[in-house]
Amino acid sequence: MKFEKTAELKNANLVMKFSGLIGEGADFGNYEFDKINSLIIDFSDVKLINSVGISVWVKWFYLAQTKNAKLNIHFLRCPKVLVDQFNNIPSFLPKNTLVRSFAVPMSCESCSSEIGLTLLEGKDYILNKTTNVYDIKLPNANCPTCGAPMTTDINAKRYFSFLKP
Ligand SMILES: [Zn+2]
Repeated sequence: MKFEKTAELKNANLVMKFSGLIGEGADFGNYEFDKINSLIIDFSDVKLINSVGISVWVKWFYLAQTKNAKLNIHFLRCPKVLVDQFNNIPSFLPKNTLVRSFAVPMSCESCSSEIGLTLLEGKDYILNKTTNVYDIKLPNANCPTCGAPMTTDINAKRYFSFLKP
């Protein structure tokens, strides 16, 4: 498995998609971040990140934000492998990044199917402007294979702890 990416500059928005393994040799690319308003990255096909990849990641986002302190960063469809890093390594999630969607692992006790259920910002988790914390609703999911209700074994308090305004 190797790292792959796509990148497309639309107006002043850099829209990217990362796939595969973020590790040795992963090259996120060089961009003129001072000329970019928003960086939008879809991570849905990221399978794994290792310690080398974490180092590449942290340096790259740090450089991007150094070149443009007002860069808007939006993360889409983050898989569990990234959510775990958001929660484990405080510097991993770039500051002021909006996580617009992420996956919650769900499993079926009847047939052992597993899926990543996507939670959407503004729908499944909403920032409460009074308390300044996110209200999180874990949606119900039925197994795509057999239709039974699915369950999750995540520790919700820990798994959602990266959701800080
Ligand atoms: Zn099932």
